[in-house]
Amino acid sequence: MDLPKLSIAALGGTVSMQSENTGEGIVPTVSGEALLSSVPALETLAHISVETLGLMPSASLDFEFLLSVLSWANFQIGQGAAGVVITQGTDTLEESAAFLDYLWDRDEPLVLTGAMRSASEPGAEGPANLLDACRVALATHSRGRGVQVVMNGQIHSASAVRKTDSLALQAFSSPIVGPAGLLVESSVRYLRPPSLRNVLPLPQQTSQKIALLEASLSADCSILENILGLGYDGLVIAGFGAGHVSESWADVMETIAWQIPVIVATRTGSGSTAQATYGFTGGEMDLTRRGALMAGFVCPRKARILLWLLVGCERQGELARYLTQD
Ligand code: GLU
Repeated sequence: MDLPKLSIAALGGTVSMQSENTGEGIVPTVSGEALLSSVPALETLAHISVETLGLMPSASLDFEFLLSVLSWANFQIGQGAAGVVITQGTDTLEESAAFLDYLWDRDEPLVLTGAMRSASEPGAEGPANLLDACRVALATHSRGRGVQVVMNGQIHSASAVRKTDSLALQAFSSPIVGPAGLLVESSVRYLRPPSLRNVLPLPQQTSQKIALLEASLSADCSILENILGLGYDGLVIAGFGAGHVSESWADVMETIAWQIPVIVATRTGSGSTAQATYGFTGGEMDLTRRGALMAGFVCPRKARILLWLLVGCERQGELARYLTQD
């Protein structure tokens, strides 16, 4: 039978981790090739090529590295791969997925997966997740859905997915919208049609810095007051509730918003910011008047990625359009 081509890249994370010596913590040492050999069923699905692009905890991935992963993935599709699967640590999986999704202009699926249990742990789910991710990447009805995250039998779209549990097997969810699909008896089932995607051009520069600060009760303004002096090119605030800050923060944010883009998202982990409900100082109507943009459903971390990419291609003027599209 003529099998499709599929490319897999390993970046590290718990899925690639094991303990080298008894009593020591787990570290990323398991190569992509070794991961692949733990899932013999894959050979019956596709001609697989696998590369180990990194063996890092996902906290140490960065945007430059992800740009090189993107270019590797594009090259694989150019060489005839029907889809691409990337394994990485789950700690920053939602951010990598969003970053790559903003830039992935192919119809072919780009699927990210990982594991909550290390390769050496009983019940390690890395091999099952990898097999599921490959099934999703190979499914023709996955085309046109951009970047997706496959974990624990669920398929999540990059724009919606969040890590919502620190250690549980069911660590990922898509608040409000739920998973985009499921793996049912090994087959890929989508629960809703693909949504319209608005892909960004590649950033021409990568030295821009975007700060992300969370509002908290009785917080002082010291860090906020130094944002411009520290050379930041944009600021994202994870605000209270529907996108609110204290009166003192609102005053400083106004000064900042004269110089650089300021986005206010919600720190709650679910839902949208408001636009026209609260009229108090530091509320969304006040902050909007002072020049801030409300993030809507875009979470603070993904708003930071969006702003970094827009500043990188000098399209920060289009920020509002990208924030309202979800
Ligand atoms: N729980 C994380 C993981 O699943 C820790 C390490 C990392 O993110 O690289 O991979």
